Amino acid sequence: MENVKCLIIGSGPAGYTAAIYTSRANLSPVLYEGIEPGGQLTTTTEIENFPGYPEGVDGNAMMADLRRQAERFGTDIRTGVVSSIDLSARPFKVVVDGEKELSAEAVIIATGASARYLGLPSEAKYRGMGVSACATCDGFFYRKKDVAVVGGGDTACEEATYLASLCRHVYMVVRKPFLRASKAMQERVFATPNIEVLFEYNTAEVLGDEDGVTGARLVHSDGSERTIAIDGFFLAIGHHPNTELFKGQLDLDAEGYIITQGATSKTSVEGVFAAGDVKDPHYRQAITAAGSGCVAALDCERFLLAQK
Ligand code: NDP
Repeated sequence: MENVKCLIIGSGPAGYTAAIYTSRANLSPVLYEGIEPGGQLTTTTEIENFPGYPEGVDGNAMMADLRRQAERFGTDIRTGVVSSIDLSARPFKVVVDGEKELSAEAVIIATGASARYLGLPSEAKYRGMGVSACATCDGFFYRKKDVAVVGGGDTACEEATYLASLCRHVYMVVRKPFLRASKAMQERVFATPNIEVLFEYNTAEVLGDEDGVTGARLVHSDGSERTIAIDGFFLAIGHHPNTELFKGQLDLDAEGYIITQGATSKTSVEGVFAAGDVKDPHYRQAITAAGSGCVAALDCERFLLAQK
C-alpha cells in the first residue's frame, strides 16, 4: 500500500496554499482535488479583493495559478475523491474513489464548505450570470443596480447591508414573517433606507434573458404572486461544511464545522489539521482560507518533525 507523508484533501485556496508550503518544506505532499477541483472560487466570476491582483482576476485563472505554483514545488496533485478515511490510528487509512487504498502519516483537511442554493432550475441556469452566493465577491458588479438577497439570517442581513452601500435598491426575500438574525443586524437592516424586506415570500423562479438575471417571481404565503425587477440574485441561506467523512471521528461543532484548537489548525486527532472554510463559519474569504492553509502546513511540518 502506498504510504504518503502528508495528504491534503481539497483544492481550494486553503488546500493549494498548504500544498505550496508543505512541498517547499520537502514533505512530498499528495493532494486530492475532490468533487469540485479548484473549489468555490471556480463558480464566481472576477475576484477583486485578493491582494496582489490589482486588476482583479478570474476565479478559474487564480485557482489555475495556485495549482501551477503547488506543482512547481513538486506537489503530487491527483484527480480523485477521498471516499473514506479512518482516523482512529496512525498512519491513517484512506480510500480514494472507493477503490485505491493508501495510508497517510498526517492529513490536512481543506474540503471547504458549499453555499446552499434553493435548487430551482432557473437559479442554476443563471449561476454566474446574476445568481451568486457571495455578495462580497460579486456585489461590486451591481453598483447602482437593483438586487435581491434571499435569507433572513445574519449572513443575509450582512450581505444586504453591504449591497445597499453599492446598489440602488436591495430586496430581502424572507420566507418567515420575521428575521432570524441578531437584533443588532436587524436594526441595521431596518435603518437602511434602500433595503426593502419582503416577508413571507419564497422564490418561485429567477427570470432572465441571454444577458443574465432580469427579475424574480415571488410567491407569498397567502398564495399571491409578485415579480421584482433585479439584476442580481444573491443567496444567503447558509453554507454546509463538507465534513461528512469525518463525522464521529473529529470534534465538529453543531453545524458540522471542524473544531480547531485556538489559533492553530490542530483538530481533536493528533496529526490531522484543518484549514479554510471547513473550519470557518464566519470569514469564508479566499485570503483567510489561504492564510489558514499556511497555518496548517506549518503545524503539519512541526508535527512530522517531532515524529522523527
Ligand atoms: P442561518 O442558518 O442563520 O440563516 C439562514 C437563513 O436562510 C434563515 O433566515 C433561513 O430561514 C433562510 N433559509 C434557509 N433555507 C431557505 C430556503 N430554502 N428558502 C428561503 N430561505 C431559506 O445562516 P447564516 O449564514 O445567516 O449564518 C450562519 C451562522 O453564522 C449563524 O450562526 C450566524 O449567526 C453566523 N453569522 C454571524 C455573523 C456575525 O456575527 N457578523 C455574520 C454572518 C453569520 P428560516 O429562518 O426560515 O430558517
